[in-house]
Amino acid sequence: MNYKIPRGTFDILPADSSKWQYVQQVFRKVAASFGYREITTPIFEMAELFERSSGESSDVVQKEMYRFTDQKGRSFALRPEGTAPVVRSYVENHLEMQGGRTRLYYMGPMFRYDRPQAGRYRQFYQYGVEFIGSNHPYYDAEVIALEMTFLKALGLTRPRLEINSVGCAECARDYDKALRDYYAPHLNELCPDCQKRYELKPRRLLDCKVPSCKAFRKDAPSQFDYLDASCREHFDAVCRYLDQMKINYQINPAIVRGLDYYTNTAFELICDELGAQNSIAGGGRYNALIAQVGGKDTPGIGFAGGFERLLLALEKENIQLPQNPNPALFMVLMGEEAVDFALPLIAELRQKGIYVDYNPEKGSFKAQLKAADSMNARYALIIGEHEAISRTLVLKDLSSGEQQSLSADELLSFPFEA
Ligand SMILES: [Zn+2]
Ligand SMILES: [Zn+2]
Repeated sequence: MNYKIPRGTFDILPADSSKWQYVQQVFRKVAASFGYREITTPIFEMAELFERSSGESSDVVQKEMYRFTDQKGRSFALRPEGTAPVVRSYVENHLEMQGGRTRLYYMGPMFRYDRPQAGRYRQFYQYGVEFIGSNHPYYDAEVIALEMTFLKALGLTRPRLEINSVGCAECARDYDKALRDYYAPHLNELCPDCQKRYELKPRRLLDCKVPSCKAFRKDAPSQFDYLDASCREHFDAVCRYLDQMKINYQINPAIVRGLDYYTNTAFELICDELGAQNSIAGGGRYNALIAQVGGKDTPGIGFAGGFERLLLALEKENIQLPQNPNPALFMVLMGEEAVDFALPLIAELRQKGIYVDYNPEKGSFKAQLKAADSMNARYALIIGEHEAISRTLVLKDLSSGEQQSLSADELLSFPFEA
């Protein structure tokens, strides 16, 4: 039996792992500079958490969630997104006690049963932040600024921000009515899914990918035109903060996020280089979510982005990411005494974080030097029988060919790049 990786998943192979580590490290650093702390939740949760938060009628819950029943018959789901688990933990652990404003970030795999295509996987890796505890429009701009700072720190030059407001629950009610009025004469022309959506969640009519349904979208009323005064004011204030932060944006009324819990601000960060699937992060305000999963009525805002598309965008912009390191030092040891002398030195160097390699299977001096070359080592440390007796070593710079004689102490204080 030849085992194959499950469809829609991928291995992060050693050749790529340093790129993944790098983008994660930059994200951690940027998040920390905004005062965000990492939170790690399990990859599975009670299925009901997502049914409550994403909405029973959402595609995520209806079609994409990996559900399973455990040995005791309880219903769980692999997490399809990161916000609901973070909010679950926030409520369960009373994180609100720690001063009102809670800033959290996370990263890890998410799971959706979706048709695999370029840049879309069934197990995919996301990063995101959640700001919980205030409805102040400054924080909407802050989380956007965090993502912008991250993208720019990686060297992306042209990320674009598109922003919209989907209003509060009251605005949404007015808007739903407007949508039903608009779609009513066309009800028979809609796909069966959309006929259900018409009653349940008219806003989902706008998400339908069936071409005949999509055609109606163009002239459909926009949520933006149904904002009440306070939601309009909130949106204008967010835009003002973005202006002050020198973050460019375009208002795009078509941004309606797929999950039920979004209120007010909704946004996407876009890299046009990516073609059709050009959104690399998206988020918004979710003022109703915390109460929905059993907490006190508390506003929040956040975003999530995908590492796969981010790495693709970096590749398209030809941004060089760190490669796996080469050995700083390759040992070339002749005879048992040399090995005796060298192994404690190797241990000390590695303790200092210096990458040292040695290949005992290569016998001759020449074969060992060749091995050092093929590993692209920076230096070779040569210890022959003679050196072993005199307790000296020869350090050879493999790019210049220069050699110098060192004592063991000199070697240990040599400025290798760790
Ligand atoms: Zn409103
Ligand atoms: Zn449809």
